Amino acid sequence: MEVKKIGVLTSGGDAPGMNAAVRAVVRSALEKGIEVVGIMRGYTGLLNHEVIPMDIGSVSDIIQRGGTILRTARCEEFRYQEGVAKGKDACEKIGINGLVVIGGDGSFRGAADLSAMGIPCVGVPGTIDNDISCTEYTIGYDTAMNTAMQMSDFLRDTAQSHERCMVIEVMGRHAGHIALNAGIACGATYIVVPEVEFDKEAMMKKIQKSYAAGKRQFLIFVAEGVGGVAELAKEIEETTGIESRSMVLGHVQRGGSPTVRDRVAGTQLGHYAVELLAKGIGNRVVGFQNGQLVNFDIQEALKMKKSLDMDLYRIANDVAF
Ligand code: ADP
Repeated sequence: MEVKKIGVLTSGGDAPGMNAAVRAVVRSALEKGIEVVGIMRGYTGLLNHEVIPMDIGSVSDIIQRGGTILRTARCEEFRYQEGVAKGKDACEKIGINGLVVIGGDGSFRGAADLSAMGIPCVGVPGTIDNDISCTEYTIGYDTAMNTAMQMSDFLRDTAQSHERCMVIEVMGRHAGHIALNAGIACGATYIVVPEVEFDKEAMMKKIQKSYAAGKRQFLIFVAEGVGGVAELAKEIEETTGIESRSMVLGHVQRGGSPTVRDRVAGTQLGHYAVELLAKGIGNRVVGFQNGQLVNFDIQEALKMKKSLDMDLYRIANDVAF
């Protein structure tokens, strides 16, 4: 079937660089003579027929902006067959025979269901946590890491002045990628990630040993999935006698102007998604393996596993003080 008109939406958690992907989808499709519509608020907007026509200028001046101009939402209804069937009807009414879904694993499940009903969908990985298994990189990850690093540098200044320990929670519900990388970049004394069992005693000993060697300010990084930073700060203070504070960096890590890497990755992935759809190929997720663009069957992609870089974790431990 010839692809004449496609849609693009952003769904689930937002990530800096999603706008670059939307822009690439729109421009690449128009370049191929394919019409494009933007669907607002993810699957919610699809079910409500919230559609905007996208011309070449509609995506001007957005590549440098955080967030997503198409907005994003979570849509409970789309988790069920009836919801997806309504989505298929909406696609037919809107007149699209292809859809680019920019989001995470949850959004890809919806894309797989919609593809199974005859609307070819291609998933573009956008999530700050970098927790999508089929790709080594997801849009938003680099910006989020850099924000976490910058915010933690600020905390380090005040930790240094007051000779304190700062226990910092960074994003990563199921994955410690941000914690590990931002932790290394900020000179963390200890990094706590969901993938590795937390040895609290070892952490206390490490802090005490560094203190005995003359260190007076400490940063402890904790991934969101482990949490409990307020209690941990209290325990550190009780055990070591070092005044401690905690900070949850939270949603600040989702925002901000995307880094070069996220703008380029968003552009590459969005462009590639359109190349597949233009050939009538659906039910795929695009991503990177060894720096190269790749695509996978959505179901296969969802079954894949990605682990934390344990070599990097070991290096982090070896250089921590
Ligand atoms: P993310 O895409 O970032 O992982 P969510 O897990 O919240 O975020 O999923 C985003 C949306 O994708 C959900 O609100 C829902 O509309 C849709 N979705 C999630 N899981 C499924 C599923 N199993 N089947 C169909 N659609 C789903």
